[in-house]
Amino acid sequence: MKTDIQIAQEAKMKPITEIAQNIGLKPEEIEQYGSTKAKVSLKVWDRLKDKPDGKLILVTAINPTPAGEGKSTTTVGLGQALSKLDKNSMIALREPSLGPCMGVKGGAAGGGYAQVVPMEDINLHFTGDLHAITTAHNLLAAMLDNHIHKGNDLNIDPRRIVLKRVIDMNERALRNTVIGLGGRAQGVPREDGFDITVASEVMAILCLAKDITDLKERLGKIIVGYTYDKQPVTAAQLKANGAMALLLKDAIKPNLVQTLENTPAFIHGGPFANIAHGCNSVTATQLGLKLSDYLVTEAGFGADLGAEKFFDIKCRFADLKPDAVVLVATIRALKMHGGVDKEQLSKEDLEALEVGISNLEKQIENIKKFGVPLVVAVNKFPTDTDDEINFVIDKCKEMGVEVSLSDVWAKGSEGGLDLAEKVVKTIEEKPSNFKVLYDENKSIKEKVEAIAKEIYGADGVEFTSKAKSNIKQLEKLNLDKMPICMAKTQYSLSDNPSLLGKPKGFDITVREIKVSAGAGFLVALTGAVMTMPGLPKVPAAARMDIDEEGKISGLF
Ligand code: ADP
Repeated sequence: MKTDIQIAQEAKMKPITEIAQNIGLKPEEIEQYGSTKAKVSLKVWDRLKDKPDGKLILVTAINPTPAGEGKSTTTVGLGQALSKLDKNSMIALREPSLGPCMGVKGGAAGGGYAQVVPMEDINLHFTGDLHAITTAHNLLAAMLDNHIHKGNDLNIDPRRIVLKRVIDMNERALRNTVIGLGGRAQGVPREDGFDITVASEVMAILCLAKDITDLKERLGKIIVGYTYDKQPVTAAQLKANGAMALLLKDAIKPNLVQTLENTPAFIHGGPFANIAHGCNSVTATQLGLKLSDYLVTEAGFGADLGAEKFFDIKCRFADLKPDAVVLVATIRALKMHGGVDKEQLSKEDLEALEVGISNLEKQIENIKKFGVPLVVAVNKFPTDTDDEINFVIDKCKEMGVEVSLSDVWAKGSEGGLDLAEKVVKTIEEKPSNFKVLYDENKSIKEKVEAIAKEIYGADGVEFTSKAKSNIKQLEKLNLDKMPICMAKTQYSLSDNPSLLGKPKGFDITVREIKVSAGAGFLVALTGAVMTMPGLPKVPAAARMDIDEEGKISGLF
């Protein structure tokens, strides 16, 4: 069996100029990065803003296993299959981070015969967006410490600084650091630390900003820390946001590439799915809707987190109206939800499946709460047996939900034709009545409770004393009327990763509430949330190589 990289290297890519032309872009509206990648000017918006939008399809999943369940693969495969049906379709995905790429997961550009290409470039430095975000963020950090060193006119309390530095690498040794050591001339010593770049608020902002003006305003609202009398200090007060926006002038433009079958794809922005909203940029999604009749996009983690944030944060801010949801389920993950050990997932186990299906049932119920019609896609793995597949398909039918067996990983578009047909039919026959889950003007407690009870199935929410004091402070500062971005384990509907299936009789514990004032949401932290991952004992990087001819291996 060929590896993802081998399949990607055999792709017959079209020149990016041709891909751009096919979706109606003019030569002056793209900037080429080599022959197979391009950035698209945001000026296109002026030309297309009155054109009706295409249909918006969100791909999400049940609670996953640690390997990922194939959301990106299904997104790409569905886009390819829609093209195969002669539909004018596009894909919008997140751009990968080097941290997980070099760490556990390897590349993040789909898999098998459903990938975006050039896969190596997309997974490595691509068009430099992550570099630009890292630099913009670290400029703010540098200006902050310089301000304190040069007299601290803003009266910033160095013990109340909330902005860390960032790097696009899994680097546990940098989680907690001390800076400014070495004497008077080296700055003011204080405790600091690093987050991974995709956890930067700058990334979340880039993904939510409509244009440069909006970007600059949002960057200006980033809270870097608090004064000695507990007042927030912002990037605008440090006069950093103009230069930050300048550093992001190209990063804000969506990147255009193609799939293995030449379907056009935007790969743009990649905020963390825990402390941020985990979706590609609003600009890419909105442009994609103008340039195609069907735009397939994806949200990180399972539907309880990813889809909820896609709806309640991204769609709310960008006024997007999703037309359909594709809910990806795998037999492997359903068996895991039924209690099967990770090592035993390749063995047939109908009993476990019967128990584990409860996770799919709850996620279906949740999607229905947002009023968007859905199709379940069973992402077929080579180890699935016919009896297992039929069981899941029959269950979906019993629930009255459209279902399709998707084999896009092994067969590309051919393996997704049934799914594509069912998605088109669903959109044509079932109008979407999309609505967000809660009113953002409600109290923080009410908003968190709505998500925990309605979506996770929790009995209630316990706020620790720290969270309660955060809420008081945020209310006092008038920073409480924003949507909630839940930071929770992706492996369970609850905040306990070991509670699989559809857990009952649990409370969610919120231990802290942070504000991302520039992005425009409040982050409710449950459990242990990692903003700087570490590398495993044998990192994926240890398998990667390049030869004299520039041929890359080991990148999955
Ligand atoms: P997600 O987007 O849910 O994290 P991905 O689409 O990135 O998941 O897939 C995760 C990994 O699983 C990739 O390496 C991909 O090649 C592999 N994969 C996805 N679907 C299948 C499948 N049906 N059979 C075998 N491997 C698959």
